[in-house]
Amino acid sequence: MNKSLSVIVPCYNEEEVIAESYGRIKKMLTKLDHPSDIIFVNDGSVDRTEQLLSQFAKSDKSVKVLSFSRNFGHQKAVTAGLHYCTSDMAVIIDADLQDSPELIPEMILTMEKANAQVVYCVRKTRKGEGFFKKLSAKVFYRILNFFSEVKLPVDAGDFRLLDKSIIREFNKMHEKGKYIRGLISWVGFKQIPFYYEREARFAGETKYPFSKMLKLATTSMLYFSTKPLKLATTIGFFSVIISLGLAFWSILGKIMGFTHADSGWTSLFVLIIFFGGVQLLTIGIVGAYIGNLFDEIKNRPEYIIEKKQNFETGKDEKTKQ
Ligand code: UDP
Ligand code: MG
Repeated sequence: MNKSLSVIVPCYNEEEVIAESYGRIKKMLTKLDHPSDIIFVNDGSVDRTEQLLSQFAKSDKSVKVLSFSRNFGHQKAVTAGLHYCTSDMAVIIDADLQDSPELIPEMILTMEKANAQVVYCVRKTRKGEGFFKKLSAKVFYRILNFFSEVKLPVDAGDFRLLDKSIIREFNKMHEKGKYIRGLISWVGFKQIPFYYEREARFAGETKYPFSKMLKLATTSMLYFSTKPLKLATTIGFFSVIISLGLAFWSILGKIMGFTHADSGWTSLFVLIIFFGGVQLLTIGIVGAYIGNLFDEIKNRPEYIIEKKQNFETGKDEKTKQ
């Protein structure tokens, strides 16, 4: 018997695209000779997404729906999908059809041929995205790799195929700030790339405004590296060296008479703002880590599910770690 497959789709205000995505995913799954289901995670949408998903679930028992009590964010939605997945394999895919569901059979073949546990999709091109989004993504993946203590594939999003062994390990991770693609790389096993063209969004607008992108970037940075802390120490060290040099220079100048203390206002002013800046920056870096510790220690649930559809009761809770 072929391995079973779950397609996990996080959705936030996707009323314009959700019917088309469901149709295309369903069509692909019907052709595929694997037992399958689709897990839609409605991340607190305020439009008609929930009603539409509910309709699909009523007429198609292979559609499972998890609805959050509010918007918890894309990474939490995918996490919930993985917690509730009981299949042998799972694909994480966006609802907006930027990542074509038609590629999934090819991804499964790639996984089988290479005997891999993860097939991660790398974007060769990104259609329909603005210059700023493309540039920020390019710069982001490279900066992150510089800081990260785990090697993270560049230009790869969350669109990927995972084997059960990876899902099992992922579900054991209890940290609240999740950068999923990083955590999956961290798990290890055999992970191979799959190159594809990223399409333009089918309809509607991006649900990832700059603020959410920044939050994802900071989570990834802070959870995958302590290099920023070391950087703070390095900056502090150099500022001490500079200040010692300047102190030596000004004392020597006073004794030998080559500095004029009364005309030193500008240099004094520049030095005060420079060292003030260095201090605030380093305190900020330390503060960011403390903030995350605070979030982790509170130990609140990562997300709250308001409604479930087509999950067998009793079994649902068991799959959740
Ligand atoms: N999404 C979500 N919660 C959010 C933001 C986005 O579940 O708070 C979903 C969204 O519905 C989509 C996926 O995450 O399926 C990726 O979002 P989007 O396509 O807007 O991001 P972009 O491709 O522009 O980076
Ligand atoms: Mg998108």
